Order: sequence, then C-alpha cells, then structure tokens
Amino acid sequence: MNLLLHTCCGPCSVYPIAELQQQGHDITGYFYNPNIHPFREFKRRLASMRLCSEGKGIFCEYDTEYGLVKYLRRVVFHEEERCGLCYALRLEEVARKTKELGLDGFTSTLLYSRYQKHKLICTIAGEMAQKYDVEFFYQDFRAGWQAGIDESITLDLYRQPYCGCIYSEQERYDKSKRRKKAGK
Ligand code: SF4
Repeated sequence: MNLLLHTCCGPCSVYPIAELQQQGHDITGYFYNPNIHPFREFKRRLASMRLCSEGKGIFCEYDTEYGLVKYLRRVVFHEEERCGLCYALRLEEVARKTKELGLDGFTSTLLYSRYQKHKLICTIAGEMAQKYDVEFFYQDFRAGWQAGIDESITLDLYRQPYCGCIYSEQERYDKSKRRKKAGK
C-alpha cells in the first residue's frame, strides 16, 4: 500500500518504519503534532524526527508550526478527556492529508507506544478514515517496543521524558500530581 505514516516523534517511528518497509509498503512520513510543548521541546522533537527519517531513508513531510494555541483551543475545559481530543486533532489532519496526497491509507506511530491509549487511537483513526474515505492500516507496533528503543539509541535520537502537552509535562515532574494520580 501507499501509506502516510503519522510520526509522533523519532524514537517511536524507528520500529514502525522498519516493519512497514519490510512488508513492502511505500511510506511517506508526516510529522503533525500540535500537542508538543513547550516551544524548545517541539523544536527538539522535530529535529529528532528529521534525523530519524534520514537514518531510515524515508521521505517525510513536516508541519513546522508550533501548535500550542491550536491544541489548547481544542482541550481547554475538557482536560480529563484531552487524549481523545488530541488524537482526533492529529489523526483528522493525517486522514485529510492522505486524501490530499492521493495515498491509499494511513497509520500512526502512536500505535507503537505502550503509554498511549491504544484502543482509543484505533477507534478515532477508524472514524477519521471513514470521514475522508481512506483506509486506516492497523498494526500493533508495541510488539517491537524494545527493538525500537535499541535502534533509537544507536541512531542517537533524542528520547523525550514525557508525552508532549504541558499537562503531561506537569504530571511527569510535579511530585504532588504524581502522588495524587497514584492515590497516595
Ligand atoms: S498526554 Fe499525550 S496524548 Fe494525551 S493530550 Fe497530552 S500529548 Fe496528547
């Protein structure tokens, strides 16, 4: 298939790219992540994705606009459901882009992460595929978790310590938030 691969970051892209290449798919990457904050973190992950696409030999399109405002307008007052809104924001654009480029379908490196809401990603991706009349290519890339980590280290890719948004950054570093989440 001619696939658009939504890439959330360099380290999460390594294994899905290798898998799809091995299966003979023709892939184009698409970095579209208005959920990554703050600005310097966004630039760092963007640079890491460029390094990854060069290392893995794929062509990648990049949305280089910092999307803080776009993201916040989507999630403010709905913080508890923000991950679903965040997936929808990104995957709708990926489905739209797939149609625009005349490709068969799309998939996402979000399906590689053990920390993402896998089923929710699939549901939303399916809805977006239907809306734009393209295919959602599903594969559980979590099977290659360790292989992806190992290769990302070999490629010297920046490995981020939190998911992406400012809320997830606070959850990662604010000890009181972490205790509350753990019910302590
Ligand atoms: S935690 Fe991650 S998936 Fe959830 S809203 Fe933040 S950036 Fe998006």
